[in-house]
Amino acid sequence: MLNLPHTMDRFKAGVFDILSYSMNGQPSIRKWYHELKKLLVTEFEFDTVQYFYIINNRLYSYEREQPVLQLEGDLLINKLKHTHYVIADKSCGELISEKDILISCMEKGVLMGFISLRPEKNNTTADSRFTAEMADHLSVLFENVMKMISTTEERKRYHELFEVTEAFNSIMDVNEILSRIIESLRKTFPAFTFTLLLSDDHDDTSNLPIEYLDYQTSNPIILQAFVTSELLIDEEKTTATLYAPLKGKQGVYGLLQAKAGKSGAFSENDKEFIKILSFTAGNALENAKLYEQSQRLIEDLQLINDVSHELNSNLNLSNMMAYLDKQISKAFSPSAIGFILTKGIEVEILDGSSQFFRTPESELYIELAKGQFKNGAESLYIAELSSKIGRQTEFQSLMAVPMIHNDQVKGFCIVLHEQPYFFTFEMYKLLQSIVHHSSLAVANSMLREELQEMINKDHLTDLFARKYLDQYIEESMLEHKTGVFILIDIDDFKKVNDTFGHQIGDAVIIQLAEELKKAAQSIGIGARWGGEELALYFPDLTAEAALKVAEDLLHSVPAQTNPPITISCGAAEWQQPHSDSLIKLVKRADDALYTAKNNGKNQLIFHPYQSLEVN
Ligand code: GH3
Ligand code: MG
Ligand code: MG
Repeated sequence: MLNLPHTMDRFKAGVFDILSYSMNGQPSIRKWYHELKKLLVTEFEFDTVQYFYIINNRLYSYEREQPVLQLEGDLLINKLKHTHYVIADKSCGELISEKDILISCMEKGVLMGFISLRPEKNNTTADSRFTAEMADHLSVLFENVMKMISTTEERKRYHELFEVTEAFNSIMDVNEILSRIIESLRKTFPAFTFTLLLSDDHDDTSNLPIEYLDYQTSNPIILQAFVTSELLIDEEKTTATLYAPLKGKQGVYGLLQAKAGKSGAFSENDKEFIKILSFTAGNALENAKLYEQSQRLIEDLQLINDVSHELNSNLNLSNMMAYLDKQISKAFSPSAIGFILTKGIEVEILDGSSQFFRTPESELYIELAKGQFKNGAESLYIAELSSKIGRQTEFQSLMAVPMIHNDQVKGFCIVLHEQPYFFTFEMYKLLQSIVHHSSLAVANSMLREELQEMINKDHLTDLFARKYLDQYIEESMLEHKTGVFILIDIDDFKKVNDTFGHQIGDAVIIQLAEELKKAAQSIGIGARWGGEELALYFPDLTAEAALKVAEDLLHSVPAQTNPPITISCGAAEWQQPHSDSLIKLVKRADDALYTAKNNGKNQLIFHPYQSLEVN
C-alpha cells in the first residue's frame, strides 16, 4: 500500500526534475519521454508507459514508425480533448487495454497525443484521486516541455534568420545569395527538400538545386503562388509541398519550394519562418541583381568609351575593323561577326568579318538584314530564326545593326550564334551603341582610303601612279630579298598619234595598261611611269620568272592592241645583300630600255645584277 501524499510528493519532485533537465541544454521530446517513462515505471510501479501522438487523425506510437490507429470518430480521443485524462473502457487494438489511464497531451489547446499508463494488477496507484492529480501534473509538464522545445527551436531559427539577413546585406553576388538561402534552409529543416524555382535565366555555376519556372507546364498551385506572391501549400496524400515567393520591391523572382515526405508536415512556425526567409531572400536577390545590372552598365559604358576613343585615333580601316571584331567578340561571344557594306544591290564584306561571311551560306543572313535596312528600319534582333522564317537554319540568334552616316545606311554589323536566345536584350542595346559610335569613324576611314586610292592611281589607265610605285619599291627593298623592275615604252607612238589622233592614242595606252594588269596580277604591280611609258615591278620574284612575264607581254601586246603596237622593255633587278637604291635601279632599267630601242625596238633587254657594278 502506497502512502498517497508521500507518493504524490515524490511524483511532483520527479516532474520538477524532468522540467529542469529540459531547461538545460537542448530540450527534446525524446529526452522528456525517456525521463518520464523511467520515473513512472521505476518509481510508481506502472506496468507499461507509452506515448502516442496524433497527426492528421492518425495515431502513432512513439516507439513504432507506422500509424497504429485511424481515429475518425474515436470516442476515446474525442473525450481526451476536453479532459486531462480518461480511463479506457475497452481495448483499442493491441496497444491500449481496458483500464489503461490515458493522459492528454495538449499544446496551445490542441490535443497532440496522450500518455497511456497501465497499472500493475491490484495496484493502488489506480486510486482515482492520485490519477486525477497526476494527470493534471503530467498535462502541465507536457505543455511546458512543448513550449520550451518550440521556444528553443524558434530561438535557433531566428538566430539563423538574423545571421542570414545580416549576410545578405553585404553579399552582392546572386549565386552566393541563392546558396546561402539553401544552406540555411537545409540547416533549419533537415527533413525537407528544397528547390529554387527561378523565373529568369541564371548562370548556374554552382550545384544549387535550381529549376526554371515553366509557365506552360507548371502545376496551377505554382502559378498561383507566383502570380499572387503568397505562400501556398500543396497537400497530397503522402506529401506536402510548400511554395514561398522570392519577392522583392520590383517583382517576384521565383519561388522557394519545400517538399516534405508526409502531409501536414508544415507547422505554422515553419511557414512563418520560411516566409520571412523567402521575403528577405527576395529582397537580397533584387539588390544583387540591381547591383549586377549597374556593374554591367558601367562595363558597357566603359566599352563604348574605349571603342569611341580607339576608333577616333586615326586607325586605318583594316585595323579599325580588327579592333571592332575583337571588342564585339569579347562582349557577345558570337559564333560569327560580319561587317557588311552595301552599295545598291552589291555587298562588300569588310576585313574583320568572320570567314563564314565569305561563304555562300551567309547569304541568307545578309539578305535578311539587307531587307530590313533597305526600308530604313531600325536594328534587327532575332532569338529563334528557324521558327521565324519557317525552316531549319544553322544559326538561331541574330543581331544586326545598321552603320548610318549622313542619314544613309552604309552597311551593317551582324552577329550570329547557333543557340536560340543566346543574345540578351542588354547585349542588343550594347551592340547598337557600339555600332552607332563607330559608324562615323568607319565612314571617315573609308573615305580616307578612297581618297588615298585616288591619289595613288593614274586616272587614265587606273594603274598605280609613279609616286606610289616609287614608295612601293622603296618599301620592298627594305622588306624583301629581291625584286625586278621593268620599264616599258611604246614603240613609235608618235606615229600612232599622228595617224589616228590623240584619242585613239589614249585608247591604245589603256589597252596596254590592261595587259599589264593581267600580267602583274597577284605577283606584282603595274604603274604609269609617264606619257606612253609604263612600268612593272615584281617584289620577291626571280629575274627568270619576271622576264618570262615581260616576254609574254612582248608577244601579247600587238595582238591585244588596236591599232596594234609593239613595246620595248628594259629590265633591272636588285638582290639582298645590296647597297642599291631606287634611283640606281631605275637608271639600270632605263639604260636597258635605251639599248632595246637602239637594237631595233620590240624587244626586252636585261642586265643581270651580278654583271653590274652597283656601288
Ligand atoms: P620611240 O619608239 O623611240 O619611243 O618613239 P616614240 O614616237 O614612241 O617616242 P617619242 O618620245 O618621240 O614620242 C612619244 C609620244 O607619245 C609623244 C607624245 O605625244 C605621245 N604621248 C605621250 N603621252 C601621251 C598620252 O597620254 N596620250 C597620247 N595620245 N599620246 C601621248
Ligand atoms: Mg617615250
Ligand atoms: Mg615611245
